[in-house]
Amino acid sequence: MKKIIVASFVVLVALASVSQSCADEWKSGIQWEKPPVVDPGPETAPANVPSDAVVLFGGTSMDAWNNGENWPIKEGVVYSGKGAVSTKQSFGSVQLHVEFATPSKVSGSGQGRGNSGVFWGPYEVQVLDSYENETYYDGQCGSIYKQNPPMANVCRKPGEWQSYDIIFMRPQFDESGNLVKPMYVTVFQNGVLVQNHIQVKGTTAWHEPPAYTRHEAKMPISLQDHGNPVRFRNIWLREIPDTPVCPVEEKSPVKPADIFGSQE
Ligand code: MG
Repeated sequence: MKKIIVASFVVLVALASVSQSCADEWKSGIQWEKPPVVDPGPETAPANVPSDAVVLFGGTSMDAWNNGENWPIKEGVVYSGKGAVSTKQSFGSVQLHVEFATPSKVSGSGQGRGNSGVFWGPYEVQVLDSYENETYYDGQCGSIYKQNPPMANVCRKPGEWQSYDIIFMRPQFDESGNLVKPMYVTVFQNGVLVQNHIQVKGTTAWHEPPAYTRHEAKMPISLQDHGNPVRFRNIWLREIPDTPVCPVEEKSPVKPADIFGSQE
């Protein structure tokens, strides 16, 4: 009897893992306009690091990351390796700077070319080689994955260094787990605004619609392994204090006198 129970359990686990790996793709069904191609100018030297920044990768060590030992470092640059890396430290809202380069040797197409991703918790800003590489617009480089395309395609050529400056404003939940403030994301790619304070609908999974599930106020930053050797350098962040949550019904209307003073 015991053997039967154990065998049944093994079969159930196997089925669960198969169904997960064969999950159907979720599509929003939204017909997006194609983002225009904008030339951001030539690649630049690594950006300066502000004095109060937390450096996550400065060119010599991946000690700040779980699984960092599986991402090889060569000449001050780290290559995406086996499995995702996630910061050992968790962060609230952040200003995050990341420099990346998709492989100069082009192989694959669509989502299979230069794919990685920058995550705060379970929310991804896509990294992809979108230079003359078509894919669904809400999955191209600079997108909030499966939710919002970038306003422009500002990808440099494969192999050239690019930058992300991302503002992740964390979602907030009450003690019952209800969402009281959604996440907002702003992204500059190569200095060009591609996401302007976009309200995130929830998680950014390939196979599921966006959804919010209560999580910690502070979450790790992660970089995705999608099987493509994307390079990274100069990764740092600055934590942003929370702005107070102000329920709509408690807001009083702003009068001109509040801004310009009384005319009397
Ligand atoms: Mg990705």
